[in-house]
Amino acid sequence: MKLYSLTLIEAEKLIQKKDVKPLEIVESVMERINEVEDRIKAYITLTFDVATENPGIPVAVKDNICTKGIKTTCASKILYNFVPPYDATVIKKLKEKNYALIGKTNLDEFAMGSSTENSAFFTTRNPWDLDRVPGGSSGGSAACVAADMCIAALGSDTGGSIRQPASFCGVVGLKPTYGRVSRYGLVAFASSLDQIGPITKTVKDAAYLLEIISGKDEMDSTSAPVKVERFTEALTGEISGLKIALPKEYFSEGLDPEVKESVLSAVRMLEAEGAFVEEVSLPHTEYAISTYYIVAPAEASSNLARYDGVKYGYRAEKYEDLIDMYFKTRSQGFGDEVKRRIMLGTYSLASGYYDAYYLRAKKVRTLIRQDFEKVFERFDVIITPTSPTAAFKIGERVSDPLTMYLSDIFTVSANLVGIPAISIPCGLTEQGLPIGLQVMGNFFDEKTILNVAYRLETMIDFRKRYSPKL
Ligand code: GLN
Repeated sequence: MKLYSLTLIEAEKLIQKKDVKPLEIVESVMERINEVEDRIKAYITLTFDVATENPGIPVAVKDNICTKGIKTTCASKILYNFVPPYDATVIKKLKEKNYALIGKTNLDEFAMGSSTENSAFFTTRNPWDLDRVPGGSSGGSAACVAADMCIAALGSDTGGSIRQPASFCGVVGLKPTYGRVSRYGLVAFASSLDQIGPITKTVKDAAYLLEIISGKDEMDSTSAPVKVERFTEALTGEISGLKIALPKEYFSEGLDPEVKESVLSAVRMLEAEGAFVEEVSLPHTEYAISTYYIVAPAEASSNLARYDGVKYGYRAEKYEDLIDMYFKTRSQGFGDEVKRRIMLGTYSLASGYYDAYYLRAKKVRTLIRQDFEKVFERFDVIITPTSPTAAFKIGERVSDPLTMYLSDIFTVSANLVGIPAISIPCGLTEQGLPIGLQVMGNFFDEKTILNVAYRLETMIDFRKRYSPKL
């Protein structure tokens, strides 16, 4: 076995026992990157120098998470040369563990998208089929985990950006409860929805990486004062008596029959192990996408106001006065999707439309939360597909933003509500593309969703059975 295919837990054990040196793992991962990165293009910046000077387990980080002294571009022209003067809290925590940054991964510009096609630089390819997207927006992170170009990775999830690419690339992606992980140093997209989380080869790795990055942080007032739990200890695989809800709105039209069958067959496995399964309703599901696409752009329009060419990043070369400089910098610096969101957001926050759109969306958000709270009074977890289809072809949805937005139909609710959710691979389509299954849990109950995911992973054994042919 090559060292690059180690999981995080395996790598730690080997290093502890002094069977391998961190540098050997770094070198193996670098070799793997040299072998396949040309075809996949998962990385915006490679940091081989950092990883070899101070070797540790090589971790890849989405390029919207600030790394001191290392370019952080958000895959945008407007930040093409931005070098942060500080580390995000999650990066500090990785450094405390002596992990090594191996590179910064590609994403949709400012994390807006579901395919990495909105990156200002290039599109990442899906390791399972190079003509297909890896999902997004954390497509670079998911692709490099799937292709063994890192041991584990971090992504961010505002409406599905960890889980959907994890599902397209056949790896594990976890969006923690809102507030579980500090957002300090994560470039803000929609602050009430954004969370950083792990993208890993196994559920155990996700649990372990979550332990490392979690915790209250005085630099982020929305980080929650809850204690950091030992998530790995919750992975007993014991699920008898577990109560599973299957929301009927997530298994209806628009769902690819192969995806449906694969998810339901995994649920039947849990049932055979003594779990209790019942169909439920989350009646406001049909409003989730519209609510998300009011709330997220509104917050984004405000968060992105800071990119004006004054303090950092790109500035237009020729302009007449200050206003013209702002205008030209933003016109040239932002891509189409980012502009679309800024305009949508500004519109729904304008005084004449605020009540009709933004305020209404906030009310519907509460109704969606109440749907979930009601289900969690009686159930431990909710299981759904992660995305209605497997990975789509590059170019297939770029000219149709609405179809693109619909690939997040099953993931946005967890962000609107704030609950944790994990995606694990549960099978392959006939064409050989990974299918993702999502487990959602109650607030701060990552332990339960991780344990259910762990049990399924043991039974399905996806990683042993299938791997991308590269
Ligand atoms: N695809 C969704 C969007 O475009 C979610 C993105 C994310 O989670 N960052 O907004």
